[in-house]
Amino acid sequence: MSVTHDRIRTGEGETFDSVSPATGDVVATLPVHDEAEVREAVQRARKASQWWQELGFDGRRERLRAYTGVLTRRREELLDLISRENGKPRVDAFIEHVLALEHLDWAAKNARRIMRPRKVAGSMMLANVKPILEYQPLGVVGVIGPWNYPLFTPMGSIGYALAAGNAVVFKPSEFTPAVGVWLADAFREVVPEQPVFQVVTGFGATGAALCGAGVDKLAFTGSAPTGRKIMAACAETLTPVLLELGGKDAMLVDSDADIKAAAGAALWGACSNAGQTCIGVERVYVVDSVYDEFVRELTAAATGVTAGGDDPVIGPMTMPKQLDIVRDHVDEALDRGARAIIGGRESVRAPYIDPIILVDVPEDARVMREETFGPVLPVARVRDLDEAVDKANRTAYGLGAAVFGKRRAYEAARKVRSGMTSVNSVLAFAGFPALPFGGVGESGFGRIHGEDGLKEFTRAKAIAKQRFSTPAEMMSFSRPEWLPKVAAKLGDLRYGRR
Ligand code: NAD
Repeated sequence: MSVTHDRIRTGEGETFDSVSPATGDVVATLPVHDEAEVREAVQRARKASQWWQELGFDGRRERLRAYTGVLTRRREELLDLISRENGKPRVDAFIEHVLALEHLDWAAKNARRIMRPRKVAGSMMLANVKPILEYQPLGVVGVIGPWNYPLFTPMGSIGYALAAGNAVVFKPSEFTPAVGVWLADAFREVVPEQPVFQVVTGFGATGAALCGAGVDKLAFTGSAPTGRKIMAACAETLTPVLLELGGKDAMLVDSDADIKAAAGAALWGACSNAGQTCIGVERVYVVDSVYDEFVRELTAAATGVTAGGDDPVIGPMTMPKQLDIVRDHVDEALDRGARAIIGGRESVRAPYIDPIILVDVPEDARVMREETFGPVLPVARVRDLDEAVDKANRTAYGLGAAVFGKRRAYEAARKVRSGMTSVNSVLAFAGFPALPFGGVGESGFGRIHGEDGLKEFTRAKAIAKQRFSTPAEMMSFSRPEWLPKVAAKLGDLRYGRR
């Protein structure tokens, strides 16, 4: 099954079809928004952001709570659309839905606490001045999203940006545009007054137009090569960027781990959502003494797990191009002496890929170093947990990770160079709204989720408010002569004996 995006030009402007990766059926036909249309959307958003800010924390919280209600009541419709357009099994769409709602609710509830004006520590030199810090909304936030989690991933930016008082213009992936449009339509049910959350659709050029359309920040989630282009485009207008990029996440298994649990988690972490998860398990390092047992358990867990069928646990690959990347990674590893203990070259059968588990893979093979983004899991033997940490860190990426073990697992989790690490589970960090989510190195920078994530969509505003005037003012040309001497004495007392 080949899925292409046919561009059609009508009197109304260019359109494109979004198609089901499983059947090739057209799911929706959408406009390709051009530069002028994107700019107009941002201008509308600018006015709407003013209105949204004036609604205040309580007003926004109420509307966002109502939005979670709409998303819950219309859940089946949304899950059905996600499943048709992205291809993922409904249960995978359901997991996205649950997580997205948790985050939306947390952001709405916590925005006031994080942003409200508060008095911060005073200064000996300026005892008559009260320092106040608050976080203010940026104005209009542009969000560009991927297709692999078309609800959860963009909502990590959209929900937090809205809760912080910004208007949002969202450019969903060309592979899942209908989900993006659905989300904005549903938002209009609870905020009909102003276009606080708009969607523009199209390909890379529409995304590029958003970068230059005068947004106050651009939050991008997608691949590292596109991230570079976005950053370069945003540099033209000094538009700040938040980049959530790809990963090559490792799982580390120590000798005292629950091996059966680790094997089950590795399989699910690598193959759920057809392996198209930015924080999916992309390689496993297992300590020598438990390696054979781990491979046995993993093989047992994977036996009989296949993609497709009537009630699939693994759906089709969403993007046809990805099949070629997965095939290349697997072929190169096998050509260089790796062994497939589950599946093999024949497992890549478009649009599906059955799980493939590889052992004896050269450490410099692409499948060990580059993002594969398919249900493929290379497993490697290491001497001990230190070597596992060392090998896990030999990558330009640094998004998530997992460590299984007892005595030294937490210590290893801290040493892995990644934005997030789960201990004795996989992907768990994504489920806590209070935990920030983001990467290191090629995995990007900035954070979504939690307090850090909310602050990404704000600017710190510092105010120093004089409470009373003093006759002896240091920051004045009319300061008395004795004042600097007294201040110096105080300074000596405070810092001089250190
Ligand atoms: P992609 O980079 O191909 O596209 C992402 C978005 O960017 C799409 O909406 C696309 O239309 C747009 N785009 C493409 N070229 C552009 C340009 N020049 N200017 C502006 N926008 C442009 O990524 P993808 O294939 O949709 O998503 C998969 C990637 O996303 C994987 O690498 C995955 O790891 C990553 N991802 C990361 C996270 C995270 O939170 N770190 C989450 C999900 C996915």
